[in-house]
Amino acid sequence: MRYQGLIERYRDRLPVDDTTPVVSLCEGDTPLIELHNLTGELAAETGGDPVRIFVKYEGLNPTGSFKDRGMTMAVSKAAEKGAKAIVCASTGNTSAAAAAYAARAGMTAFVLIPEGKIPMGKLAQAIAHGAVVLQIRGNFDDGMRLVKEVAGEAPVEIVNSINPYRLQGQKTGAFEIIEALGDAPDYHCIPVGNAGNISGYWIGYSEMAGCNTASCTLCNGECPYLEQPKTRKRPVMVGYQAAGAAPFMRGAPVEAPETLATAIRIGNPQSWDLARAAIEESGGWFDEVTDDELLATQSLLATREGVFCEPASAVSLCGAVRDIRAGRIPGGSTITCTLTGHGLKDTATAIAGRETVETVDADLASVKAAIVGRL
Ligand SMILES: *Cc1c(COP(=O)(O)O)cnc(C)c1O
Repeated sequence: MRYQGLIERYRDRLPVDDTTPVVSLCEGDTPLIELHNLTGELAAETGGDPVRIFVKYEGLNPTGSFKDRGMTMAVSKAAEKGAKAIVCASTGNTSAAAAAYAARAGMTAFVLIPEGKIPMGKLAQAIAHGAVVLQIRGNFDDGMRLVKEVAGEAPVEIVNSINPYRLQGQKTGAFEIIEALGDAPDYHCIPVGNAGNISGYWIGYSEMAGCNTASCTLCNGECPYLEQPKTRKRPVMVGYQAAGAAPFMRGAPVEAPETLATAIRIGNPQSWDLARAAIEESGGWFDEVTDDELLATQSLLATREGVFCEPASAVSLCGAVRDIRAGRIPGGSTITCTLTGHGLKDTATAIAGRETVETVDADLASVKAAIVGRL
C-alpha cells in the first residue's frame, strides 16, 4: 500500500485512535545511507576493525528536517482537540514544519524566531506556508519562555518539543533504523540543541527493546510493548553540541549561546532530564565540537559521500569520527548518525568563503581549457 506517513505506519505504537484527524505530509521513511568513502579512510588510519557508519538522512522529510516527525503528531492531536492555532519558538526548522502542517490542517501558525539568526531557506518556508512570523529581539531561549507564557493567555497549542506528542512522533526515527538494520546499532550519534530528538530516539529504542533494562525510567515501568520486544538491544547514545552552545558540557544553561549551527544555538534545553537519562541509561556521553570542525564535516560529507546536510546536522558525524579516531567508539562498531536537516536550508553558510564558481567565456576553447586543465 502507498506510504501515508508515520502515523499510519506506526499507528499501533502512537497515541492516536480512529477519531484522530491525521494531518500528514507523508513524513518519515527516510533513507539510512551507509558511508563507504569515509569509513574506508578511517579503517586505513586506525588500523583496527572497520566501523560501519549509517546516516539517517532526515533532510528528506517534507519540510527538510526531522521536525516533521513530531509535527505530524502535534498538529494531529491539536486538530483532535479542535485547536484553531498553534505556536512555537524556533531556530528555523520547527517554524517551517509548524507552518506547513498548520496550512495542511487549516490552522494559523504563530512562530517566534530570533531576530537575524535563522537562515533564509527556513524563513522562506514559514512565510511561504503562510505562518505569522514574529521576529523577536532575543534568542531561542527567550522565545521559548514567551511561548510558554503566551499559551497561558491565548487559545494556542504549543508545538515545541515540550508538547509530549512531538517526542512520540520523533521516536519513529529509531523504529525505522531498527527495521533497516535488522537490530539496533551499537552507537547512535545525534546533535543536541533543545534535546528533544535525543530523548525521542531513546524512547523509540527503549520501546522496541521492551524496556528490558531495570534502569529505564521513561515509561515508569509501564512500557506497553514489554510483551513483544523486537530486540533486546539498545544503542549507546552519544549527544554532540556546538562548543558555543553546550549547556550539557557546562552542566548548566548557557546564557548567550553562539554558533554558526543556528539550529542548535540553544542555551537552555527544555528536555534536559530526558536527555540526561538517555545518556546515563545507555552508558553514553555528551561532547562538543567547534564550528570549524562541524563545517569541515559538513563539507566532507557533501564532497566525499554526496550527502548535503545543514551545519547543525554535521555535528553528529563530526563527533562520531573524532570518537572513532580516539578509540572511544571501538573498531567493529555499527554506528548511526542522525543528519537532522537538509543542506539547502542554509546555503549561505555552506558556501561562505569558498571560491568555487569560475566565470569563463562562452566559447569551446575556454570551456575546454577549464576542463582539461583539471583532469
Ligand atoms: C531542531 C534541530 C536540531 C536539534 O534538535 P533538538 O531536538 O532541539 O535537540 C538539530 N539539527 C537540526 C537541523 C534541527 O532542526
